[in-house]
Amino acid sequence: MANIGVLIETDSTGVKIANYGVMTAAQGEGHQIIAFVMGIAATACTEILGRYGATQVIELSSQGENLAKSPDLQAGLIIDAVKEYHIDFLFGLCSSKGKDIMARVAAQTGAPLAQDCLSVDVAARTVVKPFFSGRTTATLQLNGSLVLCTIRPNAIEEKEAPVTAGAAVFSSARSNDGRLVIKEVKKNPSGRVDISEANIIITGGRPLGSADNFQILGKCADTLGGAVGASRVAVDLGYASHSMQVGQTGKTVSPRLYVACGLSGSVQHFAGMKTAKVIVAINNDKDAPIFQKCDYGIIGDLFEVVPALTEALAKR
Ligand SMILES: Cc1cc2nc3c(=O)[nH]c(=O)nc-3n(C[C@H](O)[C@H](O)[C@H](O)COP(=O)(O)OP(=O)(O)OC[C@H]3O[C@@H](n4cnc5c(N)ncnc54)[C@H](O)[C@@H]3O)c2cc1C
Repeated sequence: MANIGVLIETDSTGVKIANYGVMTAAQGEGHQIIAFVMGIAATACTEILGRYGATQVIELSSQGENLAKSPDLQAGLIIDAVKEYHIDFLFGLCSSKGKDIMARVAAQTGAPLAQDCLSVDVAARTVVKPFFSGRTTATLQLNGSLVLCTIRPNAIEEKEAPVTAGAAVFSSARSNDGRLVIKEVKKNPSGRVDISEANIIITGGRPLGSADNFQILGKCADTLGGAVGASRVAVDLGYASHSMQVGQTGKTVSPRLYVACGLSGSVQHFAGMKTAKVIVAINNDKDAPIFQKCDYGIIGDLFEVVPALTEALAKR
């Protein structure tokens, strides 16, 4: 039996869907799951987090200090809460925020940390994580009274394990030491979810030809509630921002559905998306290498196929 803390990430809509896989990783016979939230009332999250097994939802509060501006203060509060609730394992999302906070917690506590895990075995205290751009995975043993890990979004299939969750507020007498203050956060202007957390990604490559043409993919993604990704060539040519790049030198994604539009299927691109559950390729060259690596292939011009797909999906 273990006390497992889960750092929950929220946005303007509440608890991010990507947390559900992390909650699922924490489930297990006799485990107590304590979900920690910041910047949102615990009571607003008990229903949804209880559905995934949280017995308690704890709001971390900083007694008047602006938590959002100080990652160090956030990490300090988490460390105090970990002690208070006798946490053995602390799980988080492998997002830019999750990675940053967990690294701070690890630095301050000396606890072992594994980032970007694909699975966790709490009883064995092991995690599986990818190396060398996903060419290989390793099982790591994490020893310590507190073990930290972040889990790749969508790597673990979400599973409900409903319980009734209680809600409480935890605060400690920490203050912002001022060493690092977040001055401004620029939101993604598209309003779409970040590709690293998206369940559905429509990605475009070189043949898109311009930033304007990427809107074809944007419309399709909006119909499905997904995000838009890009190959490195499309980014280098200025058609898309680097935040959209998937691959070895871009982001690693693990969506349920990945639609590759006009991508040749390079190893460097695949390094970033090969854990996608279903890969659909649209390419006008029937011999394109991507057709060897996808689940479904559509041979055709993306400028015809994608709008037709968007129209068909909109009708559903
Ligand atoms: C060290 C290193 C790191 C790299 N990192 C990355 C990375 O992180 N991410 C990444 O993506 N790449 C990366 N690359 C680049 C990678 O090797 C490829 O060059 C790149 O992925 C190819 O991009 P693409 O598929 O968009 O273009 P292309 O290889 O030019 O492929 C375009 C495809 O579109 C098809 N096509 C053309 N017109 C149409 C149409 N109208 N409709 C449908 N299909 C059409 C063509 O048949 C072709 O298969 C890296 C390379 C190196 C050396």
